[in-house]
Amino acid sequence: MFFASDNGGPAHPSVIEAIAAANDGYTSAYGAEAGMDRVRAHLRDLFEAPEAAIYLVATGTAANSIALATLSNPWDTVFCTAMAHINEDECNAPEFYSGGAKLTLVGDEDAKMSPDALRAAIAAEESRGVHGPQRGPVSITNATEKGTVYSPGDIANLTGVARDFGLKTHLDGARFANALVSLGCSPAEMTWKAGIDAVSFGGTKNGLMGVEAVILFDADKAWEFELRRKRGAHLFSKHRFLSAQMEAYLQGDLWLDLAARANATCARLAEGLKAQGNVEFLHEPAANIIFARFPRALHKRLLDAGAQYYVWDGDAYHRDPDEPLTARLVCDWSIGAEGADAFLAALKG
Ligand SMILES: *Cc1c(COP(=O)(O)O)cnc(C)c1O
Repeated sequence: MFFASDNGGPAHPSVIEAIAAANDGYTSAYGAEAGMDRVRAHLRDLFEAPEAAIYLVATGTAANSIALATLSNPWDTVFCTAMAHINEDECNAPEFYSGGAKLTLVGDEDAKMSPDALRAAIAAEESRGVHGPQRGPVSITNATEKGTVYSPGDIANLTGVARDFGLKTHLDGARFANALVSLGCSPAEMTWKAGIDAVSFGGTKNGLMGVEAVILFDADKAWEFELRRKRGAHLFSKHRFLSAQMEAYLQGDLWLDLAARANATCARLAEGLKAQGNVEFLHEPAANIIFARFPRALHKRLLDAGAQYYVWDGDAYHRDPDEPLTARLVCDWSIGAEGADAFLAALKG
């Protein structure tokens, strides 16, 4: 009953096997190994982007920060939602790696920014000449931090606004696979065909030990990215262990299989919560995250039974048993139907 996050579970066994298999003999370092050539070819094929520049780093924060630094100047501002991981959960790393670019928060609904709010936020910046920030890239997250998804059409509307102002758009895809499975579209449709310039393609939350890919559809920025990654201390010398993980992830569409499992567990959990009656959903779950409100007494019952998740807005063991509190429930690939059913059984008491 572990629903605290999708990084608390195990890496998929085939990923660990791939790491062990890569631990044999000698190879070029720093991404010059043959495994990285295969990963690059596979991702280019998958994204229908033969010219794309592709790199691996070990954390999502590095992927986002180095990608955004590559798309911005130190005097720029990056447009994102308040709940964006780059705003709330990266300890100002995007500002640090970019050498000073700030973030401008765009209004959102269900963690999704609207084209109108984005247009207004962009228009409001750069009105102070040399005294204020200059307009920089837009960054959106799919699946969002609230477990909602942008459709390719939603994304195209936002990148269209960005393009009206000559701005680039980055996609934080820490849960790229969960969004893709939910939408049933192709990686290209969710990215460059919808106007996305750079992607953080997540792996860690979906079964890897610690690898995210950065995909730059405009390879003109490739060398700058490489310099920033090295200078930012994220160029691994034993890089073969990163490429081995990503290779296993892509092999036989494991990445899609794992995301489908996580999303299915989430759907099963959502269905059971709906049947419970006194559970209110803050957002219609579309991927592998649920935000649900229910009385404190039920939280207490679940936690006492060993369920692990974040109570978002209060203390489950405090005061009034009827006060509704919000649970954030995140399903990873490994929980499965048994985990969801155990949670629902504990909820019933
Ligand atoms: C988890 C996550 C990341 C990456 O986080 P790291 O801890 O740096 O690997 C990035 N974006 C989102 C939306 C996330 O949920």
